[in-house]
Amino acid sequence: MTNEAPQHNHFIRQTVIDDRAAGKHGGRVATRFPPEPNGYLHIGHAKSICLNFGIAREFGGRCNLRFDDTNPTKEDLEYVESIKQDVLWLGFAWDELRHASDYFEVFYACAEKLIHDGKAYVCDLSADEVRAYRGTLTEPGRNSPFRDRSAEENLDLFRRMRAGEFPNGSRTLRAKIDMSSGNINLRDPAIYRIRHVEHQNTGNAWCIYPMYDYAHCISDAVEGITHSLCTLEFEDHRPLYNWCLHEIDLPNHPELTGSLSARGLTAPIGQPQQIEFSRLNLDFTVMSKRKLMALVDEALVAGWDDPRMPTLSGVRRRGFPPAALRLLCERVGVTKQNSVIEFSVLEGCVREELDASAARRLAVIDPLKLVIDNLPDGHSETLTFPNHPKNEAFGNRSVPFSRELWIEREDFMELPPKGFHRLVPGGEVRLRGVGIVKCESLVKDTNGQVTAVHCTLDTDTRPGLPGAERKVKGTIHWVSATDAIAAEIRLYDRLFNVANPDDDSDGKTYRDHLNPDSRRVVQGWIEPSAAHVPPETAFQFERLGFFVADRYDHNEHKPVFNRAVTLRDSWAKAGKN
Ligand code: ATP
Ligand code: MG
Repeated sequence: MTNEAPQHNHFIRQTVIDDRAAGKHGGRVATRFPPEPNGYLHIGHAKSICLNFGIAREFGGRCNLRFDDTNPTKEDLEYVESIKQDVLWLGFAWDELRHASDYFEVFYACAEKLIHDGKAYVCDLSADEVRAYRGTLTEPGRNSPFRDRSAEENLDLFRRMRAGEFPNGSRTLRAKIDMSSGNINLRDPAIYRIRHVEHQNTGNAWCIYPMYDYAHCISDAVEGITHSLCTLEFEDHRPLYNWCLHEIDLPNHPELTGSLSARGLTAPIGQPQQIEFSRLNLDFTVMSKRKLMALVDEALVAGWDDPRMPTLSGVRRRGFPPAALRLLCERVGVTKQNSVIEFSVLEGCVREELDASAARRLAVIDPLKLVIDNLPDGHSETLTFPNHPKNEAFGNRSVPFSRELWIEREDFMELPPKGFHRLVPGGEVRLRGVGIVKCESLVKDTNGQVTAVHCTLDTDTRPGLPGAERKVKGTIHWVSATDAIAAEIRLYDRLFNVANPDDDSDGKTYRDHLNPDSRRVVQGWIEPSAAHVPPETAFQFERLGFFVADRYDHNEHKPVFNRAVTLRDSWAKAGKN
């Protein structure tokens, strides 16, 4: 790994350090990353992954990947697979792979205990009625008329809910806490609902499913999680998290988790603590699964892994290395303050990583023919180029050179503005690694468009000769037209052209802010050694930017490269930031 940033201290790391020093949780550290498999992971999730796996790694602890699969209507195996791949790609490995659905029997046993203890009841209010009874931030709620059912009646009804006797939405199991609590989450929240749907893991075994808050804390406890790290919107849910664990009291009721050993799962029981941190937000993008799903469903992008998507599979395909995302997360830090990070900070991390890790190659993406008249027809040479200007360990490569080259169209101007230091009629420029050429004449098509520039090479300026020191203002890159390989080059830019595409105050939605120039495909030419590489190989194409061989479409006969980032921040220059 290159450029891994030094670890900075933050309040969660400090909490773990203090807890270990105090012998809390027996000195153990156990975390988990708990995605709901209802979409692909995005850059925000990387923060949670780096934090959870990073803390475990740093303190010799454990970190589980847990699929929080309690809501079967929105979940899919495709998402499960992509999430696993993305976590591994980011450079982390889970100690155990778990599913909240592994604990369905445990959740159920805990619910019966709550009922038995008079801490939960079956409620027949409809969803609308529940809402009406709940009250508001300023008004207390009212007790459900079903709140005082006896434990026997509740148990009977709950068992019949499980047995499938009642239709969807007709009843819920609710925790019996406090309808006048200032915290609405404590106003007898539902902990089970009826859903007659198949589950991707448990099939048709269940028709009642636990609610997130209820399932999450128990899952943490049975996995022996010590520090349950989540984002700030769960701060108001923490009292419910603690209420459930306190009332269920798993450590003193091992029979509640008895079903786990039958499934080959060992369950160290603990009392986890929930700690909240702020979400990672980026400008120029949207980062909620719901909106990303809409972009996919409405075909505004070419899928979850479209290189313009802020999904992990999208940025991977775009050519962002995993180390750049880890660097971003380390730089952004972990706090309780919500903020929006500039997309250019992420691009800066990508440039920094790739500058260190990507070999250099020559490529031309908008070709103009350059002919060296004083070389014989069929002239062919092999030049030696270093693969990395700052790191000899990258070694050298051979680059074919011939009489006819491709140069970048923008490196020649017939009528140059002042300060243009590249090729002009009668002017000189250095061809990278070759020597100085002088433009002698032009060839134009019937529209007056220049189709070729004819030059002479000052052979005294070839590398190694004394004349090589002669100075000219510009140096340009090239590829040999005889040897270069045609490549499809996909030039990606930001998906949205405003910093806050989510801002709908003017009646517009993020759909109205799509950047029409976010994808452009051109045919370019690359030196042969850039073509003969496996997919996902990253290069700096000199003077153009960082590119990656497309994960799916690239092969050495038909190379396809995606631009990950330009070499400089063109948005800042254009004043668009
Ligand atoms: P979204 O709001 O995008 O749908 P989510 O929070 O519903 O995301 P989950 O699958 O529930 O997605 O998230 C798994 C974990 O990742 C949770 O612990 C969640 O807090 C964390 N997470 C999600 N988004 C971010 C983010 N932007 N920054 C940091 N952590 C995040
Ligand atoms: Mg969620």
